[in-house]
Amino acid sequence: MGKTLLDKVWAAHAVRELPSGQTQLFIGLHLVHEVTSPQAFQMMREQGLTVPYPERTIATVDHIIPTDTQVRPFADEQAEGMMSAIERNCKEFGIRLYDRSTGHQGIVHVIGPEMGLTQPGMTIACGDSHTSTHGAFGAVAFGIGTSQVRDVLATQCLAIGKPKSRKVQVDGRLQAGVYAKDVTLHVIRVLGVKGGVGYAYEYCGEVFDRMTMEERLTVCNMSIEGGARCGYVNPDQTTFDYLRGREFVPRGEAFDRAVEWWKGMASDPDASFDAVSKIDGSSIAPVVTWGINPGQAIGVDEKIPTPEAFSKDEREVAEDAYAYMGWTPGTPIRGTKIDVAFIGSCTNGRLSDLREAAKVAKLGKVKPHVKALVVPGSQEVAKAAEAEGLHEVFRSAGFEWRLPGCSMCLAMNPDKLVGRQVSASSSNRNFKGRQGSPSGRTLLMSPAMVAAAAIEGAVTDVREILKG
Ligand code: SF4
Repeated sequence: MGKTLLDKVWAAHAVRELPSGQTQLFIGLHLVHEVTSPQAFQMMREQGLTVPYPERTIATVDHIIPTDTQVRPFADEQAEGMMSAIERNCKEFGIRLYDRSTGHQGIVHVIGPEMGLTQPGMTIACGDSHTSTHGAFGAVAFGIGTSQVRDVLATQCLAIGKPKSRKVQVDGRLQAGVYAKDVTLHVIRVLGVKGGVGYAYEYCGEVFDRMTMEERLTVCNMSIEGGARCGYVNPDQTTFDYLRGREFVPRGEAFDRAVEWWKGMASDPDASFDAVSKIDGSSIAPVVTWGINPGQAIGVDEKIPTPEAFSKDEREVAEDAYAYMGWTPGTPIRGTKIDVAFIGSCTNGRLSDLREAAKVAKLGKVKPHVKALVVPGSQEVAKAAEAEGLHEVFRSAGFEWRLPGCSMCLAMNPDKLVGRQVSASSSNRNFKGRQGSPSGRTLLMSPAMVAAAAIEGAVTDVREILKG
């Protein structure tokens, strides 16, 4: 019987099986940011611990960093305190910090891949739920809590149970105007927000085979929103071409040897899975969320589902969503007026996302009642986008071009919704209050759909805008 990538990566990193039934798993790459690390470093200090493999940990600042000006000291004292803390902690424990001065600052899940730190066959951990992003390279990547951040700093290991495996196969050809974000939201809609609980998702099939690395990053990023512990795509030529020449990737003969090893980590053709789900990609329309979790999603040409559409269990959450979002069931989602348009985040703040959104932004002007932000995922993304003139495209359409950071994805910085504002957002969570206002409402969609909503002032079908 063949093995999955998950089996192979797990076996290659298992130090030992623990009496608890968990595995002591060696972590190849540990990513740290300013919000979930201060307590972990403090615990290290109090227990007199040191970091045995400092070269395997890198840090950046993303969550709290303002995106209008990043001149120090930050206006927000708490943000400035967190920034100073990560600087002090990295210095004391010998960890590389990618701050603004390095030219590599950005969202932790954007900078790892772009510097070539994220590689196939690795185990990766970070004190952030969306660490699943790195699975796009055929890595097994987990979000962890603060005490586990301490564990990885102190031992480079994690005590963790091996998830089961679910193959998520999407075949067919996507329609024009349908993007990786639509695919991942559709998968979550079909399998549910709890569909992945206890599982690692292996994404396969024609749709993922054809995707670029940046598209695969978008898909793997959202695995956690479908309840999966992690998600991955098997490494292939697309992966190797993306990695070649990046800063932390081996060069010359060492690269060729690495490619051979990476190929060997992919799932065997006869690998068996605990579950298999097959989805037709050609039937996917641009997706918009209407509720308070990413599984409450519909095609842009559909109506808000009526209570009868749900099972007894789901109905309670649907009723909660109707009340919070202010919907009358049966209303078309298209035409819903928006107040804010946000393009960015670790889901959709990469160069290709900005390119697709700019193609739409070029076709109109942001409606006067809409506040529209474009926030590149990293300094490198910003630099590349500016070299192509994308910032000018957005500015002349009426978008604000901001500095890199998490911005309105989680709103732990000045970028926040106000009151009951409705946001068209390319981020990953539409939970109550997620974008900074306790009553703010979030509609998740692709960056191109956000740009279309900004210029229409309401949810619209990007396929029609692109047709002209
Ligand atoms: S962009 Fe959002 S989900 Fe991603 S790391 Fe930042 S806050 Fe977390």
